[in-house]
Amino acid sequence: MNRKLLKDKKRIIVKIGSASLTHSETGLLNLDKMERLVRILTNLRNHGRDVILVSSGAIAVGRNALGLKEKPTEVSIKQACAAVGQARLMMVYQKLFSEYNQTAAQILMTKDTMLNDISRHNAQNTFNELFKLGIIPIVNENDTISTYEIEFGDNDTLSAIVTALVGGDLLILLSDIDGFYTDDPHKNRNAKLISYVEEINDDVLKMAKSSTGCSLGTGGMATKLSAAKIANASGADMAIINGDDVRNINRLIEGKEIGTLFLAHKAKNFNIMDYLSNKHNGTCNGAR
Ligand code: GLU
Repeated sequence: MNRKLLKDKKRIIVKIGSASLTHSETGLLNLDKMERLVRILTNLRNHGRDVILVSSGAIAVGRNALGLKEKPTEVSIKQACAAVGQARLMMVYQKLFSEYNQTAAQILMTKDTMLNDISRHNAQNTFNELFKLGIIPIVNENDTISTYEIEFGDNDTLSAIVTALVGGDLLILLSDIDGFYTDDPHKNRNAKLISYVEEINDDVLKMAKSSTGCSLGTGGMATKLSAAKIANASGADMAIINGDDVRNINRLIEGKEIGTLFLAHKAKNFNIMDYLSNKHNGTCNGAR
């Protein structure tokens, strides 16, 4: 694949997770990073591309606002945190986007949104209308009302489903490592970064297991691979790049050899519903 082609992508979905959005020392928002991210996304839009941001952070921000020291485990507390945090998170995004004269919108989804024909079409129509209006939708799971039965469980999967729903051509996952490795780079110094993944076969799945294990829960390599399966089958390329420096988004689109690129191979008769029925897809997640 010629990475130079990435600059021609027209509809780009960027996913950022709570760990990338917050300072590890305090759990508070990393405003510098958010500001840079907002500027980069607005610039992609200014260039004429359609852009979606899938952002986590509702529960983390809410937990901080409520002064909870421990990560909540009880569903109702997580839901309360999300109710407080999602509004706060959007307030910050709205402020930052408005500094660049960019309108942003909020779309909250659960798996039910996708399973129900009417709400799925409604969501699709809303995205299309927002694109026409030049608005950047900010998407998250509707954590305030979702429980195990109806949740996507992780935003890697959610961002891939959104990519498929809107016919995106590039999904970018901002991660806390440089990409997908042959083995766990923290444990094995010989682990190599893989630049391209053409097909998610058994070998790749084996590497994902050894590169992170399942204990990481949301955001582990396993959920990223199941996201890649969905995005690639829908016809989109997917990249994992290091989100410590959000300027990596520009570097990737300019064609620099960073991160791992999972190449699109549109499945014949792709049907998004085939990717919704089996929630966990054989991966591990749901450990918020
Ligand atoms: N939707 C969750 C939140 O905003 C995050 C899920 C994830 O990070 O995968 O807190």
